[in-house]
Amino acid sequence: MDIKDITEFLRTYDGENLSFMEVCGTHTAAISESGIPSLLSDKIRLISGPGCPVCVTVADYIDRLCELALMENTCVVTFGDLIRVPGSESALQETKSKGGRIQMVYSPFEIIDLAKQDENTMFVFAAVGFETTTPIYAVLLEKIMENHIQNIQLLTALKTMPAAIDALCQMDGKIDGFIAPGHVSVITGANAFKPLAEKYDLPFVVSGFQAQELLASIYALVKLRGQGKVLNLYKSAVTESGNEKAKHLVNKYFEPCDAVWRGIGKIKHSGMALKEEYSRYDAGSRALVNDHVRNKKCRCGEVITGFVSPCECPLFAKACTPENPQGACMVSNEGSCFHYYINNRGQ
Ligand code: SF4
Repeated sequence: MDIKDITEFLRTYDGENLSFMEVCGTHTAAISESGIPSLLSDKIRLISGPGCPVCVTVADYIDRLCELALMENTCVVTFGDLIRVPGSESALQETKSKGGRIQMVYSPFEIIDLAKQDENTMFVFAAVGFETTTPIYAVLLEKIMENHIQNIQLLTALKTMPAAIDALCQMDGKIDGFIAPGHVSVITGANAFKPLAEKYDLPFVVSGFQAQELLASIYALVKLRGQGKVLNLYKSAVTESGNEKAKHLVNKYFEPCDAVWRGIGKIKHSGMALKEEYSRYDAGSRALVNDHVRNKKCRCGEVITGFVSPCECPLFAKACTPENPQGACMVSNEGSCFHYYINNRGQ
């Protein structure tokens, strides 16, 4: 079937109502930017899932970063997207205006030069992400040790996808299948989703990020509905077993831990924490277990889990915009609310 036929099939589909979740934040961005929801029949609904690392990070984590930034001889090092995420009291950018030391970087490895140039300061990297980014932090740790650097720590909020999807399936959000996260699958391999597919009799399709690839994946999900199967349609990047070297490196420094997800709560073994023998490089990550959101009307938790669409939040496009975000989902360039807003995605 060529893409024209697939598009026509999806446009005219008239079977039972189906809801598919795109788990990955980059898929949310690609789907929103390409206007795919407007090409689908009303009977096929796409839901954005918990695949934006910034969005699922709890307020306590932001609070801890703000606290560290205000401590003497301490500097928080982060990517730009965390700067405006609200904690329970303030965001990092507000803390910076109060004198907090916060350094934005484009690569985690920039922290090494920062630490060498100022040995009297402890530099703390805000390490959030999924299976895709954890290997980068493992390489960073190797470099820190090779260079005998004593003044770098990580504040980790690293998460793993299969456990979160398992929790979502148990929440009965009426999901009929998943567009499995493409980047995560590069590391985990497509087989990582097999136990979930079989447990819940739901299809998982590993997809690339081009509009045509996504349409083909949605078509495959329609055809596989009710079947506990994994289909890998992103073979150019994803193998069945994943990247063994990256997994080995991660397992050298990190171990599974329970993690708290915004909107979902604590999920057993859904995070990765530094092993005890590397705890000197940890800035207190394991103590972050609560999510005290600042704006109680923000429905990020329900957006992330697919229970409401961003448009159903009373603050969407009113009190909450990319210029004045009230929740993490409007801040991140992988956030659902952000993409529904800037791409006028109304589904
Ligand atoms: Fe939260 Fe804003 Fe999204 Fe509402 S629109 S859920 S306030 S981020």
